[in-house]
Amino acid sequence: MPTIPRRRRSPEEVAAAAPVNGTKRVLLAAPRGYCAGVDRAVIAVEKALEHYGSPVYVRKQIVHNVHVVSSLEAKGAIFVEETDEVPEGSLVIFSAHGVSPAVVESAEERGLRTIDATCPLVTKVHKEAVRFAKDDFDILLIGHDGHEEVEGTAGEAPDHIQIINGPHEVDQVTVRDPEKVIWLSQTTLSVDETMETVRLLKQRFPTLQDPPSDDICYATTNRQVAIKKISPQAELVIVVGSANSSNSVRLVEVALEYGAKASYRVDFANEVDETWFEGVATVGVTSGASVPEVLVQDVLRLLADYGYGSVEEVVTAEEDLLFSLPKELRATLKQAGDVSRALGGRKSRS
Ligand code: SF4
Repeated sequence: MPTIPRRRRSPEEVAAAAPVNGTKRVLLAAPRGYCAGVDRAVIAVEKALEHYGSPVYVRKQIVHNVHVVSSLEAKGAIFVEETDEVPEGSLVIFSAHGVSPAVVESAEERGLRTIDATCPLVTKVHKEAVRFAKDDFDILLIGHDGHEEVEGTAGEAPDHIQIINGPHEVDQVTVRDPEKVIWLSQTTLSVDETMETVRLLKQRFPTLQDPPSDDICYATTNRQVAIKKISPQAELVIVVGSANSSNSVRLVEVALEYGAKASYRVDFANEVDETWFEGVATVGVTSGASVPEVLVQDVLRLLADYGYGSVEEVVTAEEDLLFSLPKELRATLKQAGDVSRALGGRKSRS
């Protein structure tokens, strides 16, 4: 399918070229869409299907996107909620959001073969949790209770971790020793809201330690920076992403916070509602970290039909990170001579 032609501009150039008298245009955020962790997890399932054949079981949605999950299902992946749904001896892949040690143990007990597609940046947070629990810190994990990533991280040290859902919960926090407290976070939160939670926590616990490095990942941060640039100029911001995608939902919130008059999340172009465009000259478009570009292109085609054919891409950062595939797969791929995408590194810029 042809992509919609677009010009690439810096945020400053776009601001200088604001539309005159209601000229219709689209400001397309960059970076948007797939991050390195999602790319790795999706390829892991595809390669497992290719090399081991179906069925390949996947615990939870491999990434939080309806389209990605149904595409992999069509290729033979079977998504389950828990490992006890997987027949003994079968192959199961753990999703990009990570799992607690209890899930790994349960898979071992059932004799399952496993591939761990946890994003390396989530694994980093797990390791921080283990390390600070070992040093007997109280760990304040800022994140959404019930989110798979938070369940996985909290499961590393349940006796040391308490989950803080946001600034409104800071007052209820109690710790054993206020001198020995650290905060960690889910990777896909709003940067601004998390900093506000930390600010309030530090009022209560002045020696609260910061994580050794940022837990909110580069992809979440970059997508929020890009939409912050666009939102003040857009009457409407459309975020492509699924309802259970934390980083997609955050993009809607950030767009509204930074000046968009309206913002909606859609899984597919056919969810875009005509009534949203009344009096709208500039539409901002972005997508969450688990969204394939094809879904954004569908939205752009629809916008062109509505007269928003002029697309300016606002680039706030370049991303070229690639993660190597899970180690359990690498040996198989190497043996089969399929090394094209086994190792990580940087994407080619050609
Ligand atoms: S959003 Fe960040 S943490 Fe999550 S999979 Fe992507 S790179 Fe990894």
